[in-house]
Amino acid sequence: MFRTHTCGELRLNHINETVILSGWVQRIRKMGGMTFVDLRDRFGITQLVFNQDKNAVLFDQANRIGREWVIQCKGVVAERSNKNQHLDTGDIEIIAIELIILNESKIPPFTIEDDTDGGDDLRMEYRYIDLRRNAVRRNLELRHLIALEVRKYLHEFQFLEVETPVLIKSTPEGARDFVVPSRMNPGEFYALPQSPQLYKQLLMIAGFDRYFQIVKCFRDEDLRADRQPEFTQIDCEMSFVEQDDVLNIFEGMMKHLFKEIHHMEMSPFPRITYADAMRLYGSDKPDLRFGMSFVELKELVSGHQFAVFDAADYVAGICASECSTFTRKQLDELTEFVKRPQIGAKGLVYIKFEADGSFKSSIDKFYSSEDLKGIANAMNAKPGDLMLVLAGETKKTQKALSELRLEMGNRLGLRKKNDYAPLWVVDFPLFEWDDETQRFYAMHHAFTSPKPEDISLLKSDPGKVRANAYDMVINGVELGGGSIRIHNSELQHKIFQIMGFSEEEAQFKFGFLMDAFKFGAPPHGGLAFGLDRIVSLFAGLDSIRDCIAFPKNNSGRDIMSGAPSPIDMNQLKELNLKIEVPEE
Ligand code: ASP
Repeated sequence: MFRTHTCGELRLNHINETVILSGWVQRIRKMGGMTFVDLRDRFGITQLVFNQDKNAVLFDQANRIGREWVIQCKGVVAERSNKNQHLDTGDIEIIAIELIILNESKIPPFTIEDDTDGGDDLRMEYRYIDLRRNAVRRNLELRHLIALEVRKYLHEFQFLEVETPVLIKSTPEGARDFVVPSRMNPGEFYALPQSPQLYKQLLMIAGFDRYFQIVKCFRDEDLRADRQPEFTQIDCEMSFVEQDDVLNIFEGMMKHLFKEIHHMEMSPFPRITYADAMRLYGSDKPDLRFGMSFVELKELVSGHQFAVFDAADYVAGICASECSTFTRKQLDELTEFVKRPQIGAKGLVYIKFEADGSFKSSIDKFYSSEDLKGIANAMNAKPGDLMLVLAGETKKTQKALSELRLEMGNRLGLRKKNDYAPLWVVDFPLFEWDDETQRFYAMHHAFTSPKPEDISLLKSDPGKVRANAYDMVINGVELGGGSIRIHNSELQHKIFQIMGFSEEEAQFKFGFLMDAFKFGAPPHGGLAFGLDRIVSLFAGLDSIRDCIAFPKNNSGRDIMSGAPSPIDMNQLKELNLKIEVPEE
């Protein structure tokens, strides 16, 4: 028997019991004739004591072991004179009577503590050691719990978990596919699913009614903190539903998670339209933990000989409460911030509404105190507030002001990790126009249904058509999104047409779906959540990497295993692939 208990289990009521523990050596403290070993496993840490006077051979043996060795120790549970309140097992220790070394360990490349000295790359190279750290392990425990609660909730509501294939025909979700060559079909390829979108729709046609799957999806995109080439979705679909039915079920699911994981009762999630989200926050995933919504000022500020405002399509500002005391330096920093190439504003206008009621601004030359007062009124500013105004082309300026708003939120400490501000964004546009390729793209995906009242616009003004599509956003992060689908092959055809697919192309890519629509497709809709993002939100992490057991780095590499890597010539031949090796 390797153990009678885990390293997190023993308490005062076990005193005088003879026990066996197995685990890793976290720490060794040698204090004269006594050696203390902290033994660790997933469940906790227990202190072992080796006493030279009691057993000199055993004591010598203990003094030879090192960090991260795997040992088994038999001993008697005793009450500690020096209790450790930081450990669950801190009231007891084990007086060792036998020690077996199960395996030695090289000296680990970094310390296995909550605050480790290992840099990112080193930790990723030795991820199996990194995973021994509490901080990382806890994230995976949380992930397990969240997945479990999701399954419980959805099972309760009669969803069936169905596995869909991983080697598929490409399903477009707007990203690039990862592809897999088929040995048995030379020159042909599978795609890895960007999502199980088409399969879940087919399951609705098959009458499954309510489907879900916690499933890996693959997208060959440039990576960011909240993106990995393979990620996990909680993918869901329902039949005979309208938008409200979907939102209610999944708002319920998120509330269930908040309740089970954080013991929080959440109020109903506000629902705002995409148009309002853009107007008020310049973003389709606004962070509602704080206010500072946009106020449009174009009309009010035009005609004062201030060319920047006069020439702009769009002028808008935000009002930061009690920030009129911002110094020159702080304002310069904000100006630098908005002028960074990623943000792209040309400059920043500020108006200080001083505590004494006077105004000080970067546009004093063009606007009288009276004018500034008018702006302050429009922005609901009070004495002591600071107004920040941007001007320019509408979309770009909204985006820049949105970044500035978030930056102000950060600076003022308004984006607290344990505040949660959920909302639904609804009524997304169906299409997005792309100037470069001169065509419409589906904003969500090609299977999203237009709002029935907008169908007539499909012909005349496709850019104006709103979709029956929705996103759940929490704290400025898009956690999930979906839509009510088209279930009629004619309408689906029309949408493909607007997106510029030829008849043959549509038939080649989605013929099977279009055919299926002709065999009794029920009205249906659904959505998918990013599990990695949910876990990282609940854990308060800055990157989804820390809640994934074996993540990839920013260039899509697994630096531990070395993937991706070349394959040998024979494999290539078998797959009928030729690659040109660049000349040295
Ligand atoms: N397949 C969609 C996605 O991956 C979600 C959905 O529409 O259900 O974003």
